[in-house]
Amino acid sequence: MKLKKLEMALQRFAGFPRPRAALEQYQTPAPLAARLLYHALMKGDIEGKVVCDLGSGTGVLAIGAALLGAKRVTGIDIDHNATGVAEENAVLAGANVEFLVADVRDTSLSDRIGTCDTVIMNPPFGAQKAHADRPFIDLALVTAPVTYGIFNAGSTQFIKTYTAGRAEITERVGGVFPIKRTFSFHTKEIREIEVEIIRLISRHQVTHLA
Ligand code: SAH
Repeated sequence: MKLKKLEMALQRFAGFPRPRAALEQYQTPAPLAARLLYHALMKGDIEGKVVCDLGSGTGVLAIGAALLGAKRVTGIDIDHNATGVAEENAVLAGANVEFLVADVRDTSLSDRIGTCDTVIMNPPFGAQKAHADRPFIDLALVTAPVTYGIFNAGSTQFIKTYTAGRAEITERVGGVFPIKRTFSFHTKEIREIEVEIIRLISRHQVTHLA
């Protein structure tokens, strides 16, 4: 599937019915999601791979991975309303994705989902709840040898320090995340947040696989 076609497919998806600020429920815009997915595809991290999407929301990243030929895709989100919409979006796209309702902070989750080849995620940036992104990073690094995450621009140093000894950043791609007025504390109709897509290679898995 071509990049433009993927973008168009993701554009048609339903969004969060009642987005929850505390969970930082912002759907990744189709162009940014397609960019992450295509980048991962070109690196050989999607096609034929077992892919997990942590904090899958309405399923944009997870379903996109399935459309690009992932062997098996699992999306995980704490909010059953979100997984419900994601399931409908998967049907709309004709994609086969399993969505689980679970909290990434749950220490038994790792055993439940097992290992994946690739984690993709757009975790909360921690704007509402400081460090909300940390359990996502922690779980990603023990789940897959390769992770692609969307973070606030300028997060590289934090991620480097936070994952020191556990992972290595192998790539960074810049992007923008236009956020439409969603919550009452948003004052502008649309705000563009600079983000970066970061690719991490986990040491945990590398040694595990060796
Ligand atoms: N990945 C989706 C959604 C991004 S918004 C997309 O790219 O469009 C972040 C998502 O993380 C929300 O759907 C929210 O419900 C979920 N989330 C927040 N905290 C969580 C937690 N502790 N465990 C699992 N999911 C969580």
